[in-house]
Amino acid sequence: MRLEMPVAPDRESLDTIEGALETMLARLKEILEASALTQETLIEITAIYNNVAYIFLYLEANDEYVGYDRLLPWRDAFHADDQLDDLVIERLTRLRCADPEAEESRLSYLNELRDKRAARERGDTGELDRLLAAAKDVLAETRREHNTLLVRLGVDAGGSPQAAFYRLLATTPRAGTRTKLARAWTARRDDRRDTLIGLIDGMVTLRRDRARAAGHRSVLAQTLTKSQVDEAEVDRFLAGFLRAAAAGHTELEDEVASVLGVPDDPFLHFGHYLRTITDEQPMPRFSLDAAMSYAFTVAEAVFGLTVRRVDTGSPHVLGVEVYRDGEEVGRVNFDLWDMDRKTVEANHTRGLRNRTDFSDFVQHPVAFVSCRFRRQHDAANLITFQNLHSLFHEFGHALNHLLIRKRISNRSGLEYLPLERLENFSMWYEKWVYHPEAADHLGLTGDERAGLDVAQRVKALEFRRTAVDRAVSALLDFELHRRGRGGMTDVFDDLDQRYGIGRHCALGDFPAYFTWPMYVAQPGANFSYAWGAADSCQRFAPFRALSLADIRRDTGLRELFSPCFDFNAAGSRPDSAAVFAFYEPIGRATCVAPA
Ligand SMILES: [Zn+2]
Repeated sequence: MRLEMPVAPDRESLDTIEGALETMLARLKEILEASALTQETLIEITAIYNNVAYIFLYLEANDEYVGYDRLLPWRDAFHADDQLDDLVIERLTRLRCADPEAEESRLSYLNELRDKRAARERGDTGELDRLLAAAKDVLAETRREHNTLLVRLGVDAGGSPQAAFYRLLATTPRAGTRTKLARAWTARRDDRRDTLIGLIDGMVTLRRDRARAAGHRSVLAQTLTKSQVDEAEVDRFLAGFLRAAAAGHTELEDEVASVLGVPDDPFLHFGHYLRTITDEQPMPRFSLDAAMSYAFTVAEAVFGLTVRRVDTGSPHVLGVEVYRDGEEVGRVNFDLWDMDRKTVEANHTRGLRNRTDFSDFVQHPVAFVSCRFRRQHDAANLITFQNLHSLFHEFGHALNHLLIRKRISNRSGLEYLPLERLENFSMWYEKWVYHPEAADHLGLTGDERAGLDVAQRVKALEFRRTAVDRAVSALLDFELHRRGRGGMTDVFDDLDQRYGIGRHCALGDFPAYFTWPMYVAQPGANFSYAWGAADSCQRFAPFRALSLADIRRDTGLRELFSPCFDFNAAGSRPDSAAVFAFYEPIGRATCVAPA
């Protein structure tokens, strides 16, 4: 659940990104306009698309905070330009690579583009976009209805009605009133549930037709060509994850019911429960500087990376260069977003673009991390625990991007990692906010340490509360795209029969997710979030037991990360139990001492 106020940051930081996109597009065209491709320029093109993919993944993860609409034409410039695709197909057709991996990559890239062209020629490109836009319109209507309800209740929705409503519920003292409010809220959502599901089902049907036309057994089978796991493995993993999530769900419901004394649907009262158990304790804020330096210390201790500040030419972007053994491995730009600053006119600092040396983007990948903070009177920048968690998660993505061993893989065209592994490393990095040494590295004193404990527990409880939701959304997505017929309602009913999910969640909780960019981009593969959660908890376990000093001495630990950096390194199916073993004890400490 996203609970923070969505405040639009000023957009100056986007200019750095726009400059990067502009330079990369120019270089791509320059390469393609030369008469023939070479193995080296193919690798360069792959590196460019890796960077573009990373940038849009980053922007989508932050779309609540930054209106990046103005950058969307750039995505089209790379991914939806028929003439560009035709030119790449023509150049790839004439190329032969001496290196067998590069040759396989060439063929797989070529197939991808030919599939895309065939879909275009069948004329089925616009329909999916139309359905998606219609689904988003339905959600916008619901949001307006929710806003109207909030206004009637005298609540200022700010930017996110959902977050405002959650706060309202948490601060409403009477259980009966909370129940009534929650029902009114859900009724407005469910008014349009079936219309929304109809549109999502329409998208699924279109994808099924296309997957068959491209020679795949199912949409899922087509998506999994970019992965190293098979359907049966994912199915087993998700079943285990769901069972554990459901058991934890029931347990947590009982805890909430006993603390608040509410008989019905305890999770309607979850926000209030969190307030109840944490009320007496101060919620900590952390120094942004200390948080960044802790993130860099982890990179140094685990991977031997050193980080040096560099001038970016903008006060809103903090740049660092990352080195290993004296060699530069890449650069990370931290976009500094002061959440209290009023949105200013987009300030297009054109000068930044010219500073972007293209060679940076090929020899040295560039990554972006958003830092959302509030500036205090004493000019210190402070962040919440959620911000700290996001900062570590995003820095994990950034380092993952920098540490990819080969910019070209022989398995899957432009993908640099199997898609089930895309979240493994970032989720592993975020776990450092739970490490026993975190408080020391964040420079916390007595009360602040107790505050950190509380914040960790709240986050762990939030995870436990939402685990069923994660499992069911992944299973719905997986099953819908595995099957050749049937819609979301059928799949939900089947899952209910098989696992009894109706006891824990409702069909109406899920359709909105299917309009999110990741669901649209990789249909069937939403399981990668649950997969990443399990993998990261398992991978973090040995690090949690060691001090950073011990870790620094044991450079062999780095070997554990091959599957995170190398497409072709063998991965393994994570144990779903690892997630629950990680979060349950952290959440429990609060529950045994209710206020
Ligand atoms: Zn992520």
